[in-house]
Amino acid sequence: MLKAVPGTNDIFAQAKEYPFQEPVFRYILKTAEEVLRGAGAQMIHTPIFEYLEVFQKGVGLTSDIVVKKEMYVLEDRGGRLLALRPEPTAAIVRAYNEHGMKVWPQPVRLFTWGPIFRGERQQKGRYKQFHQIDYEALGLADPLLDAEAIALMVRIYKTLGLKQLEVKLGSVGDPEDRTRYNQYLREQLSPFADRLSPDSQARLETNPMRILDSKSETDQAILVELKLKPMLDFLGPAAQAFHQQVCAYLDWLGVPYRVDPSIVRGLDYYVRTAWEVHHARIGAKSALGGGGRYDGLSEMLGGPRVPGVGFGIGVERVAIALKEEGVAVPPDPSPILYLAPLDEAAKIEALALAEQLRPKVSVEMGYTPKSPRKALEEALKKGAKYVGFLGEGERAKGVITLKHLESGEQKELEPLQLHSLFEGPLGG
Ligand code: AMP
Repeated sequence: MLKAVPGTNDIFAQAKEYPFQEPVFRYILKTAEEVLRGAGAQMIHTPIFEYLEVFQKGVGLTSDIVVKKEMYVLEDRGGRLLALRPEPTAAIVRAYNEHGMKVWPQPVRLFTWGPIFRGERQQKGRYKQFHQIDYEALGLADPLLDAEAIALMVRIYKTLGLKQLEVKLGSVGDPEDRTRYNQYLREQLSPFADRLSPDSQARLETNPMRILDSKSETDQAILVELKLKPMLDFLGPAAQAFHQQVCAYLDWLGVPYRVDPSIVRGLDYYVRTAWEVHHARIGAKSALGGGGRYDGLSEMLGGPRVPGVGFGIGVERVAIALKEEGVAVPPDPSPILYLAPLDEAAKIEALALAEQLRPKVSVEMGYTPKSPRKALEEALKKGAKYVGFLGEGERAKGVITLKHLESGEQKELEPLQLHSLFEGPLGG
């Protein structure tokens, strides 16, 4: 029997592992959608694959996604290379440019949700296919938008019922600030090069900042030992002023955050504002989400200059956090009426009646005839409010026998009476 690829998951109501229960997913997505639509953002769906260049140029040649070959690359029939999206921002910026959104009133604020693909080593909270909710505000380089994005992200988590959150806010500066910081890191780390992990040794040349994000414990031990200065100490005046303005706006909004000078985000396109949201009961290496500003990304994709800021929320991680905090997720709604055919002939009668009533009320039915006792058990299991029996006796009189499961009250109703019973908004 064939099985799913490790690191991918089926998401359905009865899934044994909590992050993959469909009502949990739906609760997270619905809540995020309400918050973001309520803030005037528009939904966009981009394809789940793009030309490889969109992501190669977008996430940057020194990001883990490219260096560690985490992208799922496929070859089209014409020999063009495509990639399953390893993150949504580059695709959204590609769409913004392609559809001429630059002439719309700015900023253009878009959101999406869907599957993301990264060929990472599988562990709890880290999958090869996972899901992100993603928000982007494009076309304006104003720190107000950074503060708004952080506030919206926090509001999504709070509306979901999460409390033990921490926003870690930093700045990765402007490209020239990063050049100076990378130079500093190279000088400091070079004497220890042979003790660094092979990945970090390679990064010493290409992008030393990436070493700060290393998951290797020996790398982290060296970093602690060296007491390196943080990126924040290397900000130029413009990036410094921008960062302070974001902080001031967040203070004004009353959004709690902690300035974390060590924040360096995993993708190369970030400039200035960078943040992560962490949860007290989930490991420090597993953020619930992250975001940042990426003013140069559009140009990397061959487009005009389009400043932007946005965030990605990891749906599975949020589901794990909800479980950790014991947040009750609304279950799937139960049917109001369960129709039980008692003989073969009643099957189609039950289906026809269900179809007539369904616009008004949620109706499930038994698909094989059963004894009234068995049908009752099934209706109870489904959580129905009423069970309606259809059998030979009912057929002869042109009625159905309707039983209210809570009170046990039972009566025979003609079709018209049944329709009017379910006229109300909750189906009686
Ligand atoms: P990133 O684009 O790497 O900043 O990821 C944004 C968010 O997506 C992270 O904060 C996580 O919540 C989530 N995430 C990233 N990678 C994975 C993964 N492999 N499996 C599950 N969630 C992930």
